[in-house]
Amino acid sequence: MQEKGSISIHTENIFPIIKKFLYSDHEIFLRELVSNAVDATQKLKKLASMGEFNGELGDLKIEVSFDKKKNTITVSDKGLGMTGEEIKKYINQIAFSGAAEFVEKFKDKGDAKDIIGKFGLGFYSAFMVSEKVEVISKSYKEGTEGARWECDGSTEFELNSDSKETRGTDIILHINKDSEEFLDEFRLKGILEKYCKFLPVEIKFGTKDESVEDGVDKDDLPTGQAGKPKYKTVTTDRIINNTSPIWVKAPVELKDEDYLKFYKELYPFSEDPLFWIHLNVDYPFNLTGVLYFPKIKNDFEIQRNKIQLYSRQVFITDEVKDLVPDFLMLLHGVLDSPDIPLNVSRSYLQTDANVKKISTHITKKVADKLVDMFIKDRKEFEKKWDDISVFVRYGNISDEKFYEKAKEFSLLKNVDGQYFSLNEYAEKVKTNQTDKEGQVIYLYTTDKAKQDAFIQAAKGKSYDVLMMDGVLDSHYIGNLEQKLEKTQLKRVDSDIIDKLIVKTEAMASVLSKEEEETVKGIFEKAINNKAMTLAIESLSPDDLPITITMSEWMRRMKDMAKTGGGGGMSFMGSMPDNYNVAVNGNHPIIQRILKAESEDQKTKLAKQAYDLGLLSQSMLTGADLTAFIKRSVELVG
Ligand code: ADP
Ligand code: MG
Repeated sequence: MQEKGSISIHTENIFPIIKKFLYSDHEIFLRELVSNAVDATQKLKKLASMGEFNGELGDLKIEVSFDKKKNTITVSDKGLGMTGEEIKKYINQIAFSGAAEFVEKFKDKGDAKDIIGKFGLGFYSAFMVSEKVEVISKSYKEGTEGARWECDGSTEFELNSDSKETRGTDIILHINKDSEEFLDEFRLKGILEKYCKFLPVEIKFGTKDESVEDGVDKDDLPTGQAGKPKYKTVTTDRIINNTSPIWVKAPVELKDEDYLKFYKELYPFSEDPLFWIHLNVDYPFNLTGVLYFPKIKNDFEIQRNKIQLYSRQVFITDEVKDLVPDFLMLLHGVLDSPDIPLNVSRSYLQTDANVKKISTHITKKVADKLVDMFIKDRKEFEKKWDDISVFVRYGNISDEKFYEKAKEFSLLKNVDGQYFSLNEYAEKVKTNQTDKEGQVIYLYTTDKAKQDAFIQAAKGKSYDVLMMDGVLDSHYIGNLEQKLEKTQLKRVDSDIIDKLIVKTEAMASVLSKEEEETVKGIFEKAINNKAMTLAIESLSPDDLPITITMSEWMRRMKDMAKTGGGGGMSFMGSMPDNYNVAVNGNHPIIQRILKAESEDQKTKLAKQAYDLGLLSQSMLTGADLTAFIKRSVELVG
C-alpha cells in the first residue's frame, strides 16, 4: 500500500488557523491524544468482553515519552489500532471534518480560545505544536497489516504500509520550533498530571536521561544493523494516574478514610473536610462526583474554584461557574459528566437545559444531605454548624429552592452558645420579645465583648441575644426579615433597651420640664460634640445613666455602603458617625448633677457620666481616656 493524497479538497486549509489562534491553550494537544489512546484501549476491552476479540490483551499501559534529540513526543497505546483504510476514514475524513467544522464555527468568535482550550478539537490539535505528525498503527483484526500515515500540516497526506508488529497505535509528533517548551520533563509531566490524573487506563511517562558513551549513534547506522549505541539511555518510568478515583466507585464500597485520602490527593495541603456527598445519577443525565464541605473560613474568596469538572475522567476545567450555583462554589471536589455539552460557548452553557438540570440536582442533593444530618444527629449537626453556617446562609440568601429546604435546618445561635431552628427560636422569644405593635424583635450582637453592656441590659429583661458575627450576616439579617413574618432584627446596641422593644408607654419622669432643659444644657456643654444627638429619657433608675447608640437604620446603611451594596446609598459611607445619647433622667446621678455647687462641678460630673457611657462601648480612647482617668482619680480622692 502506498498512497498520497489530499485530506480535503473542499475545505480551506485549517492548519494555519489551528496553529495561530489557539495560541494560549496549546498544551491541550496532549490531553486529546492521551484520551484518544484511552478510548482505543477501552474499545478493545469492550470488544474482548463481547467475545469479538479473543487474543491476548496483555499489558495495556499507555506510554508517553519524548526525545529531546529528535524533537519528538510519542503517545503509544495497545488499543484496538487502525488499518490503513480506517486511518483514511477516521483521521482523514471524520476527524478532519470534525476539526474543520469546529474551527469554522469559532474562528470569528471572541471567546474561541477559551472554548477550544477547554473542550479540544480532537486529533488535529496535534498540529498546534507539530510540524509533522506520524500515525503508526496496527489493528487488532487478524491478518491486517500495519499502516503509517504522515502529514506535515498541509492538507497533503501520505499513507504507507508499515512493519509494525504489535497491536495498537503510536502517534509521533515532530515538535515545531515554537513549541520546544514541550520537550521538557517537568512541563510534560505537569500537563499529564493536570488533565490525565484520573484517566481509567494506566499512563506511563518515560523520561530519558541520555549520557554519552563510546560507540556509534544508532541512528547513523544503516537500518536493520545493530551497533553499540552511542547514547546510553536510562529510562525512569512513572505511572501518572489513579485509574479508579473514588467517584467512579460505588459509595457502599468506600470508607471514610477513602474519602479523606482522596481529598488529600486533590488538595494536598488542606485541612480535612467536614463531610461529603457522593453524587451518582444516571437518569435523566449522567453525573458522578464527590463534593466536600470544607471548613469555611471568613475569607471565603480563596475557597472558590476548587471544584474540578471532568468528562469521563478527563479533566476539563476548574471553572464551574456556569454549572453550579454561586454558593455551591464554596464546596470542593469533583464532578464528572459526559452529558455536559463541551463543544459549546460559555453563554450557551448557562442556558443549556442539561446544565440547568444538573445544577438544580446538585443543589437538591446538598440540601437533602444537610436535612438528613440534621434529623439523624442534631448534636453532631450543631457541632458542625459554625463551620457550615456561612455556606448555608449564602445558599439561603441566593437560592430560593435551597432556602425552601434549608429553613428546616438553618440554625440560630445565641450568645450563650445554644442553637435553635428558626421555628424553635420564634417560639422561644415570641412571648417576651413582642412589642406593643405586635412585632417580634430578635436582638443580635456582632461583637459579644464590645457590646457586652447592652447584652447584659437585654438579659436583665430576660431577652435573648443572637450571635450574628459571620461575614454574610449583615445580608442574612435583611433576608430573615423578608422571610419571617412580623419579625424585625435589631442590634442590641442600636437603642436603649426600652426603645428596642417598646412594650408600654414610657415611665414617668422625676424631672420637671425646666429641670429637663437644665440637664440637657449641662450635658450639651459637657459633651460639646455635634455628632451626638442628646435626649433626656425617663427610664428605670436601675438602668444605665447614659447610653450611647447608633440607630439600626443608620448602621445598616453604613454597613451596606461599606460592602458596596445599598443601592445608591454610597454617600452614607462618607458621612460622619452619628450617635444618640440617651440621658436617663430618673437615674440618681442626675439629681447629684443638679444639686452640685458650681457650674464647673456640674460639667465635670456630666462629662464623667458621659465618658462612662463611651467607655462601656470601647469608644473612649486617646486623650479623652487620659482625661477621664485623671478626673476619676480626682473624684475618688
Ligand atoms: P474523537 O476522539 O472525538 O472521536 P478525534 O479527532 O480525537 O475525535 O479522533 C478521531 C478518530 O480517530 C477517533 O474517533 C478514532 O476513531 C480515531 N483515533 C484517534 N486516535 C486513535 C488511537 N490512538 N487509536 C485508535 N483510533 C484512534
Ligand atoms: Mg478524541
